[in-house]
Amino acid sequence: TKLDLLSENTKQSAQLFEQAKKGIPGGVTANIKYIAPHPIIMERGKGSKLYDVDKNEYIDYLLCYGALILGHGHPYVFESVMKQMKEAGTTIFGTPHRLESVMAEKLISLYPGIEMVRYTNSGLEATLLAIRMAMAYTGKSKLAKFEGHYHGGFDQVLLSVNPEEDQAGNEKIPNTVPESRGIPDYYVENTVILPFNDLIATEKILRARAHEISSIIMEPIQGGFIPADQEFITGLRGLTEELGILLIFDEVKTGFRLSLGGAQKNYDIKPDITALGKVLGGGFPVGAIGGKKEIMLISAPDGGRDILTAGAENKNKQDALFHSGTYNGHPTILASGLATIEVLESEGTMESLFSNTQLLRHQLEDVYQQYNIPMQTIGEGSIFNIILTQNNIKNYRDMNKADTTLRKKLDYELLKLGIYTKPLNRYSMSIAHTEEDITRTVEAHKRAIQIILDL
Ligand code: PMP
Repeated sequence: TKLDLLSENTKQSAQLFEQAKKGIPGGVTANIKYIAPHPIIMERGKGSKLYDVDKNEYIDYLLCYGALILGHGHPYVFESVMKQMKEAGTTIFGTPHRLESVMAEKLISLYPGIEMVRYTNSGLEATLLAIRMAMAYTGKSKLAKFEGHYHGGFDQVLLSVNPEEDQAGNEKIPNTVPESRGIPDYYVENTVILPFNDLIATEKILRARAHEISSIIMEPIQGGFIPADQEFITGLRGLTEELGILLIFDEVKTGFRLSLGGAQKNYDIKPDITALGKVLGGGFPVGAIGGKKEIMLISAPDGGRDILTAGAENKNKQDALFHSGTYNGHPTILASGLATIEVLESEGTMESLFSNTQLLRHQLEDVYQQYNIPMQTIGEGSIFNIILTQNNIKNYRDMNKADTTLRKKLDYELLKLGIYTKPLNRYSMSIAHTEEDITRTVEAHKRAIQIILDL
């Protein structure tokens, strides 16, 4: 039987996908990794490039959902990881070790809102811990989040990330819509959805429900590319302080990508708690939360009441917030993250990453204009997205009004032309992307437009 191919050049991918489906539901290990009719199965990466099992080369703009800011296989990261394992004589100690504090000090120096740090193994675990900490600290049990914002794949936040138009409700008072089967009603009832970039509507909801809302979790830049207005985010910070609600910045995506101090540095706002991930692990799984000392200290084994004494962890455990994880603070992974940050800190690195991103954005904008396709790029720092409308984009609902059908068609052509990102996904840049990559990418967009428009 003829396999349903993405293109004639991805036959091996199609075949391997058929094989994968036998042992793995849907053939993918995360639902979002599926691309119809079959994902492209990669087998090698180098710098800005990915190579699939059919030996096609792609310029990679997915970069493992933004994690690989140095590109694939940066030699200094490889070296640092190998050195760490050799010197330690093991992959992990299972006990406290030096690098935990080294990284903590680094994060404290870079992020205005971070005074103390705890590690997790993913961005998901970081936001989960941040939310629990806010509930423990405030003694309130509801969570508020913004429509369209993603914070990881767990029950409490898998709500109104990408709601269907007919379920999303009033734009000023959005419904709480579960994104998956299996999410208990409890979470739907206890999660308040707020409209992003609408301070007046947000304030109305918050004032009415402040007594029960422990925290607001938000992506300061939704999806890494729709920025909160400065006025909105400043207003929200003031409002949350006034109402006794903690403000959690989920900087899993924006951390190290807009500046080394994340979005909070650019906005000059100190959140109460920050969640980090992705770039922090330099390509290995990691997460962290950081925040104000008095909040973070409740996760100390004695609940942060006093300096620890022998046995305190048992006596006072009701006072402490439970946080655990076999692999938390993994030394090999922290070595990778520290090496990554070190490279990013070298002079001119972030600046040239940003100017390359700007260059690509401007050239893409020119191409679409040339073909009279309404288009804009939006984003900050090293992440942007291509939106096929000239209307102002302030939130999730605005995004859905853009021409996603044409964008998707173009993305499929681009895949065939060797430009890799998931259809409709944003573009992340790395320091490995060269001007030649940019030129090739812009030419591929031209070609894709010509094919789709039949020119
Ligand atoms: N928060 C944000 C803003 C994210 O982008 C992601 C991952 N895309 C997460 C949380 C979850 O991180 P992870 O996939 O490492 O669990």
